Amino acid sequence: MPADNVLFSDITYLKGVGGARADILRSELHIYTFYDLLTYYPFRYIDKSKIYHIREITPDTSFIQIKGRILQMEVVGQNRASRLVALFTDGVDTMELVWFNSIRWLQNSLKLNQEYLIFGKPSVFNGKYSISHPEMELVSDAQSPIVHFFQPLYSSTDKAKRMQLDSRGISRLVYNLLSLLPADAIEETLPQHLLQSLHLMGRKEALYNIHFPTDNNQLQRALARLRFDELFFVQMGLLQTKQLRLEKQKGYAMPKVGQLFNEFYAKGLPFGLTDAQKRVIKEIFADLKSGKQMNRLLQGDVGSGKTITALLVMLLAIDNGYQACLMAPTEILAQQHYEKISKMITPFGVRVELLTGSTRKSQRKKMFAAIEAGEVHICIGTHALLEDTVQFANLGLAVIDEQHRFGVAQRAKLWTKNNMYPHVLVMTATPIPRTLAMTVYGDLDVSVIDQLPPGRKPVRTLHFFDNYMNKVLDFMRQQLVLGRQVYVVYPLIEESAAMDLKHVDEGFEWLSKTFYPTYNVCMVHGRMKPAEKEEQMQRFVSGKAAIMVATTVIEVGVDVPNASVMVIQNAERFGLSQLHQLRGRVGRGADQSYCILMSSVKLSAYAKKRLETMVETTDGFKIAEMDMKLRGPGDIQGTQQSGDFDFKLADIVRDERMLTYTRELAVNILKEDPQLALPQNECLRKQLSFINSRKGSWEKIS
Ligand code: ADP
Ligand code: MG
Repeated sequence: MPADNVLFSDITYLKGVGGARADILRSELHIYTFYDLLTYYPFRYIDKSKIYHIREITPDTSFIQIKGRILQMEVVGQNRASRLVALFTDGVDTMELVWFNSIRWLQNSLKLNQEYLIFGKPSVFNGKYSISHPEMELVSDAQSPIVHFFQPLYSSTDKAKRMQLDSRGISRLVYNLLSLLPADAIEETLPQHLLQSLHLMGRKEALYNIHFPTDNNQLQRALARLRFDELFFVQMGLLQTKQLRLEKQKGYAMPKVGQLFNEFYAKGLPFGLTDAQKRVIKEIFADLKSGKQMNRLLQGDVGSGKTITALLVMLLAIDNGYQACLMAPTEILAQQHYEKISKMITPFGVRVELLTGSTRKSQRKKMFAAIEAGEVHICIGTHALLEDTVQFANLGLAVIDEQHRFGVAQRAKLWTKNNMYPHVLVMTATPIPRTLAMTVYGDLDVSVIDQLPPGRKPVRTLHFFDNYMNKVLDFMRQQLVLGRQVYVVYPLIEESAAMDLKHVDEGFEWLSKTFYPTYNVCMVHGRMKPAEKEEQMQRFVSGKAAIMVATTVIEVGVDVPNASVMVIQNAERFGLSQLHQLRGRVGRGADQSYCILMSSVKLSAYAKKRLETMVETTDGFKIAEMDMKLRGPGDIQGTQQSGDFDFKLADIVRDERMLTYTRELAVNILKEDPQLALPQNECLRKQLSFINSRKGSWEKIS
């Protein structure tokens, strides 16, 4: 859309706005221009095509419209408790209408024995139906321009409402806007042939109909069209970004599989790789030798063996003369990666260092010098790796483990460690539903390890109510006698941290007593000092402690194959993906493992569904899909920072098929016409640059 389009006029110039209301529109509703108002969509519609009778009301009745008269009114109660009660009849039956606010004003303005159309949601009070704060409209007045069968509802704020910018007020402004817009103001954004083949409503028609639908069918078509736009242009944008990156971003060429890789592969691997691991390494190697910068997401369920895969890829980088780094979200995990990896690879002459927040100053200095001199081949660490003081001689590959703990901004920061961006491999154990990955990571390439190492027995998951705890203790004892280890996990969330910590402490005391003196118990939680945490971890890893009481700090990556039981207390308080991550801590050895979910008897429907899902399946992708269905995409871990799926109308769960379709469509269009130079694609190019220009201005504002 050209910048001189009338749609970019300041909202002040709209009929009915003026200075003071313009200020409110801007500050309260973020409406700055005509365009912003045009795309300020209703959140719901009221079907006013039917008029009900009072006797049709049932306890399930939602918002309805009734035609009738007020027979009498009186103020009931005193002072703050006072309310205005009107007796209302539809000519057959009667019901009460009740107001708690603006009583004086209503008393003076409501008219007895005149025909009203009232609108509201009935509720039952004292065995009788009544409606509180109904919308009242005199039938004689009802020809105001915006009475339609489908009345749009717009969200507003208290401040805006005080300036008559309630739903009705906004609707009136939209009406003014649509009446004054010249015919060519709203341009079509999709090529004609697409509109035809997909039977999509034109954009202009859709924008009119979303505000003032003539009937439900038109409304649905308008919604479909505008949802399509949202999904399609996000995909086009993501794919263009990727295309640009591949064109512009040269990457370090790592063409050879060298001696180090081959030697380690032949002599150092403690086990044979799964086919999935081999395939992923090939996919990554193809990127490394392409001369273009890699940006790849590696998804693999907990325990699928991402670490060894990452190590082999890092060896490829080293073989080609580059350094690699591996960044983990927690110290425990970084430490564990360091121990495992250095044990495996140091014998092959590779120098591995660990850098975390608790690395001593004196050590740091030496390490920094060695990293800068290129003497360190693999640097493992936490966020500490991102500090500006860490300078690599030639960082060629950055692996980021458990991506969801890092923001996108951090990922970008790591890239600038060198004059050319290193290849980036992001690993996540939180399987992301396909549709979500498509929107959030749509500009990355994706590899999936979809196979667990052989011989794994799926974890058996059971759900018990708290009163079963003694039986669970017996079961723990049986397993401990067999030499296994047990995790007992407690929730700890920020909002109730003090209370939760108390429960963790009490749990620790209780289990210490219960198993004294045969088994030792250790404890790890996020509020401990790193050194203390480390010591407690070590007691469990070495087997000195048979039971570990912990909060979710153990969720990420911790690997103790001898642990075969995980008891999760108050399991109803955990999210699904969190439960799945926790469960991934067991089932890592050859023994049958168990995950026992303890909960109170009282469960919300959602909590019940979460626990049922856990008992039913161990498939991380299925769990992620369910998680997204239950919580909505905005809450899925690791995606909060992304504004990419901040859709106004589309919903990637409900509109999954449309999303998949728009993705394929976008791929095909860009394949055929990468620069969008064909005449038929001009509208796409214009719309994309329009979207990009708006993105830019938002970034500047925030
Ligand atoms: P995650 O993908 O969750 O990070 P890890 O890399 O920690 O999983 O691997 C889980 C366990 O499986 C580790 O003990 C690892 O040594 C082992 N493992 C990885 N790959 C294989 C394989 N191909 N065969 C047997 N064991 C494997
Ligand atoms: Mg891992």
